[in-house]
Amino acid sequence: MQSYEKLYINGQWVPSRSGESIDVVNASSEQIMGSIPAGSAEDAEAAVTAARGAFDGWAATSVEQRAQQLEALHRGLAIRSDELARTITAELGMPLKMSQRIQVGLPCAVLENTIGLLRKYPFEEPVGNSLVVREPVGVVACITPWNYPLHQIVAKIAPALAAGCTVVLKPSEVAPLNSFILAELIDQAGFPAGVFNLVSGFGPVVGEALTRHPEVDMVSFTGSTRAGKRVSELAAQTVKRVALELGGKSAAVILDDADLAAAVKGTVNACFLNSGQTCSAHTRMLVPESLYEEATRNAVEIARNFSVGDPFGGKARLGPLVSAAQRQRVCDYIQKGIDQGAQLLLGGPQAPDGLDQGYYVQPTVFGRVTPEMTIAREEIFGPVLSIMSYQDEEDAIRIANDSIYGLAGAVWSADVERAKRVARRLRTGQVDINGGRFNLLAPFGGYKQSGHGREFGKYGLEEFLEIKSIQL
Ligand code: NAD
Repeated sequence: MQSYEKLYINGQWVPSRSGESIDVVNASSEQIMGSIPAGSAEDAEAAVTAARGAFDGWAATSVEQRAQQLEALHRGLAIRSDELARTITAELGMPLKMSQRIQVGLPCAVLENTIGLLRKYPFEEPVGNSLVVREPVGVVACITPWNYPLHQIVAKIAPALAAGCTVVLKPSEVAPLNSFILAELIDQAGFPAGVFNLVSGFGPVVGEALTRHPEVDMVSFTGSTRAGKRVSELAAQTVKRVALELGGKSAAVILDDADLAAAVKGTVNACFLNSGQTCSAHTRMLVPESLYEEATRNAVEIARNFSVGDPFGGKARLGPLVSAAQRQRVCDYIQKGIDQGAQLLLGGPQAPDGLDQGYYVQPTVFGRVTPEMTIAREEIFGPVLSIMSYQDEEDAIRIANDSIYGLAGAVWSADVERAKRVARRLRTGQVDINGGRFNLLAPFGGYKQSGHGREFGKYGLEEFLEIKSIQL
């Protein structure tokens, strides 16, 4: 059992005022594997007071001091990386090898990048008779989801701490154990008391208390569009800065001159990563009507090879989904796809053969999906691909943009200039051309209801900076 009984506030491990706890469930065994405190509004209050108290001192430290402090944390993360990967695989279900590379590898890289950027970032620049200075925004509440739990935490706290902000973290209550290991590492790295605080608990309790708090200057939120809207509403009362990284329904546009086999393979991979529990998953595959049959056949063949099973076993490419609730949600969407007349080409709402325990879902492919169907419009967050056909390039762009979301997307074409023209017309925060790799120095964030603000690289650092003009 990995049970944590205390919150981390003002440099100390302290019990929650609520006296209550939240069980953490292993996604593949369905057994309780640990617990965390169910923090209260009073705990949030204490953490904000600590962060406010630490702010002036931390904001006044030199860039080099903050860089060295973050380097100490980076060393700690490297030492406990295997334990972190195992913990995340158990609570979330991602196959272990992928957890090592993605769930832990990415945050290590983000931390390293942040340290490098911090050392060379121009915090001051002359503009005419003014000196423009960038200063930390203040006390930041970071509220994070469960699907890439450590990565999403580090994507916020690394640049926030680098900028000179102090932080209260409210991790997801669904896969939270990794955040306690992180807090232990922050404690051991010797950050001054109050610079980083951890208050676990439920969103409507701890998340809302932080969002409402007048001493919180900014909320950096990653999660569902539903909760993001609530955070925006509450934050407006104190006019605090809000950064939102929300859901997506991203389209991969396969143009008629694309290498079809590569395009279909790349799209299925980008749809099924983390069992589809990825905000930027390419969940809608758009193919020209003339290539529809071939593309569909390819997609089914590729998806069939996504073996489902024990995430610790070393063979499976898809582990279980994170929870019973998430599995139910995904299976309901699959059923809705069938009911609304999409063609079920692979998979379905039944559990995969021989996997009665664990929140497993079969890799599922739908053909002849039309834009008004629910599975073409709503974020499913499971291993479900919707294949849609289009008439011409204009039609493809129109269908791709026909979404309340605008997080990510892809274009596949033999002509890179043509692909770039299409990419520019997609109303999304990122577009991958011909499988272009995820770049941790490039800005990541959404258009439309996928949110606003950008994470990673210098853009992620700038989220946590205020700008002041001093006239000389
Ligand atoms: P969620 O919105 O349920 O929870 C996210 C976090 O918000 C959790 O910590 C939760 O406790 C908290 N929360 C919930 N209600 C709240 C409230 N009323 N006030 C304040 N905080 C509240 O989302 P989830 O199920 O954990 O994560 C999945 C969602 O996150 C998906 O929609 C996915 O697309 C999105 N996501 C987006 C990105 C991105 O970068 N755009 C990345 C990962 C996940």
